Amino acid sequence: MDKTALIIGASRGLGLGLARQLSTTGWQVIATARDPQRATELAAIPGVRVEALDITDAAQVDALPARLAGVTLDLLYINAGIAGPQDKAASAATIDEVGQLFMINAVAPIRLAEAMRPLLNPRTGVIAFVSSIMGSVETGPGMGMSLYGASKAALNHLTRSFVAELGDTTLTVLSLHPGWVKTDMGGAEAPLDVETSTQGLAEQVIGAAGQGGHRFIDYQGEPLPW
Ligand code: NDP
Repeated sequence: MDKTALIIGASRGLGLGLARQLSTTGWQVIATARDPQRATELAAIPGVRVEALDITDAAQVDALPARLAGVTLDLLYINAGIAGPQDKAASAATIDEVGQLFMINAVAPIRLAEAMRPLLNPRTGVIAFVSSIMGSVETGPGMGMSLYGASKAALNHLTRSFVAELGDTTLTVLSLHPGWVKTDMGGAEAPLDVETSTQGLAEQVIGAAGQGGHRFIDYQGEPLPW
């Protein structure tokens, strides 16, 4: 039977690339975009079901399980993220900039995972959070974009709390680093293209099904330090 993925934040970049990747390999893909009217590349992928979702809109997040009633998810892939005020030192950022960055990158993904958890296949379901090597407390500092890195470190911390609260489960949770990829966020000088990264990411999420536990790995499956 076809597997089903829900990809959060798939209008462009890596989320769009993963939607393409999984749908061409036979997955049923449900993908969200903040503004589906503008997500024309996503809508053009044959068979993809597009749902409107701003991950910071709590009412939309809480309503999503009912909108997907009857669906069993093999994969919940939470990709939405922003770079934040990357041209600024952390100490120069405003309350609004910091609030938006940490809400989108760290807090909203957890709220979404909590809301969607009942729809996951209880034995082999995978929840993947898109983190970053910059969120590693051990290796991130010095790489630049420290506020962004801190938001991903916060995501990693909250994900570990989420996993601790899952208790006894065979669900698998992944915190993923996609590599440095040519997207609007990654920029043109990034060494990886979207297809290479999403091929690797797809292999990691497919291979993780049924393994249980929580790992922080990159798109090639290399373990990363927290
Ligand atoms: P892009 O900027 O190309 O795409 C970001 C995606 O997130 C868009 O689909 C965007 O939707 C969506 N998004 C942003 N805010 C929200 C929101 N409030 N609600 C719902 N969706 C939202 O980034 P990438 O594709 O490069 O990045 C994808 C993920 O990978 C991010 O989490 C990023 O932090 C992470 N990452 C990327 C790296 C890279 O080198 N590119 C490296 C390491 C991690 P919209 O079109 O509506 O704005």
